[in-house]
Amino acid sequence: MTHATGPKFEANGYDFSAYVDCRNWIGGAWVPAASGATLEVLNPRHDKAMGTVAMSARADLARAVEIAKAAFPAWRAKPMRERAQVMFRLKAIMEDNVEELSWLLSHENGKVFGDAKASVLKAIECIETGSAMPHTAAGGQLDVSRGVNCRVTHEPLGVCAGIAPFNFPMMVPMWMIPQVLVGGNCFIFKPSEKVPYGAMRIAHMLKAAGLPDGVFQIVNGGRDIVEAIVEHPVIKAIGFVGSTKVARIVYAGGAAQGKRVLALGGAKNHLLLVGDADFELATENIAASAFGTTGQRCMAASVLLAVGDVQRYVDKIAEHAAAMKLGEDLGPAIDKAACDRMRRYVDEAEQLGAKVLVDGRDATGPGGGHWFGPTVLDLVTLDMPAGREEIFGPVLSIMRCDTIDDAIAIENANPYGNAAAVFTSSGRLARYCVDHLEAGMVGVNIGVPVPREPFSFGGWNESKFGHGDITGFDGVRFWTRPRKVTTKWSKQVDQTWMG
Ligand code: NAD
Repeated sequence: MTHATGPKFEANGYDFSAYVDCRNWIGGAWVPAASGATLEVLNPRHDKAMGTVAMSARADLARAVEIAKAAFPAWRAKPMRERAQVMFRLKAIMEDNVEELSWLLSHENGKVFGDAKASVLKAIECIETGSAMPHTAAGGQLDVSRGVNCRVTHEPLGVCAGIAPFNFPMMVPMWMIPQVLVGGNCFIFKPSEKVPYGAMRIAHMLKAAGLPDGVFQIVNGGRDIVEAIVEHPVIKAIGFVGSTKVARIVYAGGAAQGKRVLALGGAKNHLLLVGDADFELATENIAASAFGTTGQRCMAASVLLAVGDVQRYVDKIAEHAAAMKLGEDLGPAIDKAACDRMRRYVDEAEQLGAKVLVDGRDATGPGGGHWFGPTVLDLVTLDMPAGREEIFGPVLSIMRCDTIDDAIAIENANPYGNAAAVFTSSGRLARYCVDHLEAGMVGVNIGVPVPREPFSFGGWNESKFGHGDITGFDGVRFWTRPRKVTTKWSKQVDQTWMG
């Protein structure tokens, strides 16, 4: 295992390949948790252990924070342009290793190769934006009075932390890392204990890209480490991505400690479909949004609001769902608990009167993991948990609506506000929906309306706690603090108090 390459995932396919133990990356060394505690990491496709992950405690975090604190003065003293060079080199390393990184994600998360690769490419796109920070963070200046100049600089915050979910082991870290590091901060990252290898690989690549030890560190673990991060007095800012339940805890706890917190939570995304929509575009996009990545993404379509007579579209979406091959078009659920949760939602909906058009409950895929096939539920109502709550699986719930305003009202009444989209050929109707939907990311004829960089990513309402978005321009502002410098070099030259 070298720093130049990091641990390689040799399996160039979906066959099971045992991996390595994942320790903490502290001060430039891979170290076990002080207690020695570990947890098995399961490959979701094969349900077999790929290795173990360190399950750290407060003492491990405290050590990482001390090292980060010590590394901070030298890192912040480097000009921003110099810090950005690390990102250029990281980007080149990732581009040289896209295939291998994608397979790694596929093995630890279960994603099919195409989905894994798309997420690696999006991670690289985020690095591009971070590399441009010397330009995007260049402050303004103005002579605010005679002989008096005011300028603004973007200063680092100090030691910051990031906490990630299981579904995008390389992309979500890259929503934060480029701006955090180019901004001059030191970063302590806690990946999901279900998928720790993506971050491990990132640490190796950052080292190879020339990042000094202690500037980026990983403390693996679960809830205990999240709580320790929230409470640690030295940590100035936290970026969190995960469920709404935990986002709320991290936001409230961090804010109570005076920290800057941006906590992205769960979602219940609605797609609105009207009968004038382009048939092929709408049906393919809706199916891809609902079932792609096994529905395990915060941008996945969860509810289809079918306005008026759109039966032929519904039939085609069901046809797409039924034709999808497990193992090729979509991977397994992350674990048994996830599969059980998906099944429970579908069972309940059926008992309460929903019609199961496509049933993925008994689907099996290759490899012995936990599989759940694309599922389409019709006649779903708000009485059913499947109509209201986040399922986080390949389940599309169809609600029938008479008018577009009925559909908008349903979307707007749900507590989340991550994404929504409308499928129509009418520009006027599309504009009306964009103006009235209560969601932070809205699509027109796009089932997964992820804003591409440099536009920032983030939802509204219970899908996000904190100010601003993650990534892009907002990332620059979140991970830095503005310093306003007012300068005068000559005696008073007029009568104003600023003169
Ligand atoms: P999760 O909330 O269970 O876990 C996220 C992180 O919090 C993990 O690192 C985990 O170790 C930690 N954690 C779990 N329970 C905790 C607790 N009780 N106290 C403190 N920390 C805890 O989320 P997940 O299951 O890993 O990921 C799926 C969720 O993430 C979905 O709700 C999905 O919508 C959401 N998500 C949101 C976005 C977004 O951009 N809004 C992106 C990806 C995923």
